[in-house]
Amino acid sequence: MMVAGDKFFRARITRRVQFSPELWMIRVQASGEFKFAPGQYATLGVQGVHKLLERPYSIVSAPFEDELEFFFELVPQGEVTPELYKLQVGDEMLMRKVPKGRFTLDTSKGRTNHLLISTVTGIAPFVSYIRMLTRDSREQRFRGEHQIYLLNGASRSWEFGYLDELNRHAAQAPWLKYVPTVSRPWDDPNWSGEVGRVDDLVRKYADMWSLDGTNAIAYLCGHPEMIEHVKGILKRRGFPKEVIKEEIYWVPKKQVAVAT
Ligand SMILES: Cc1cc2nc3c(=O)[nH]c(=O)nc-3n(C[C@H](O)[C@H](O)[C@H](O)COP(=O)(O)OP(=O)(O)OC[C@H]3O[C@@H](n4cnc5c(N)ncnc54)[C@H](O)[C@@H]3O)c2cc1C
Repeated sequence: MMVAGDKFFRARITRRVQFSPELWMIRVQASGEFKFAPGQYATLGVQGVHKLLERPYSIVSAPFEDELEFFFELVPQGEVTPELYKLQVGDEMLMRKVPKGRFTLDTSKGRTNHLLISTVTGIAPFVSYIRMLTRDSREQRFRGEHQIYLLNGASRSWEFGYLDELNRHAAQAPWLKYVPTVSRPWDDPNWSGEVGRVDDLVRKYADMWSLDGTNAIAYLCGHPEMIEHVKGILKRRGFPKEVIKEEIYWVPKKQVAVAT
């Protein structure tokens, strides 16, 4: 068994769902109370050959849930995800006791339109926001004062992970618009929704929803290139940088120039 020490909780897996060969979610029970805000991340640790290996993971679940949920993508050449991938129900990993991150829903700027844009696992913090708002709405602490506009990109529909749940919330919540889009529809003939890369759809939906640099806050999460492209688009639409929030999941390897 791994030793948790002062800084870590043990997190025992209670559920594991495989969405596609490379994408899966887990729910865990932590060995102590873990307080966080929707949009924050946890630092998970697995024992490597010589040392503990740690990585940040956005929390999918909302703070009122009694377990924590994570959505992972396997990076076959990576250090940590191949280890996480092996873990099954009943197995444990380590989790730092302190959550981190500022990628939370910003209701302090007087702007009530929130444009959320994600690729694949980058949906995680947004599911947490939406679960929280749905519950607050049910308990009448939230009455639709804030509008959520969510664009969610993946190559194929089985990579969304939370498609059914988000469609269900959107069907019931007047404050939520949800548009999933598939960039490789030729691999997914049964998909009848939006197609194209999420970055290429930002202009269309921002126009349709009348969102611009004067009335919205943008939240970009996931693939570094998507974030770069969308930031450029939003800046050209007049979004000041103070209203563009980002959570970049990894730093792309520098392209090595090949001499010819
Ligand atoms: C704030 C934050 C939240 C995050 N939340 C999530 C999350 O909810 N779910 C999740 O799966 N990941 C998330 N990540 C990414 C995660 O922390 C790891 O970087 C990722 O799981 C890869 O870890 P690894 O040890 O397997 O690969 P590493 O050994 O760290 O990386 C190997 C190589 O792969 C590249 N790489 C890393 N991730 C990817 C990727 N997804 N696709 C392509 N190349 C990649 C790296 O740049 C590196 O060159 C988050 C990152 C941050 C900073």
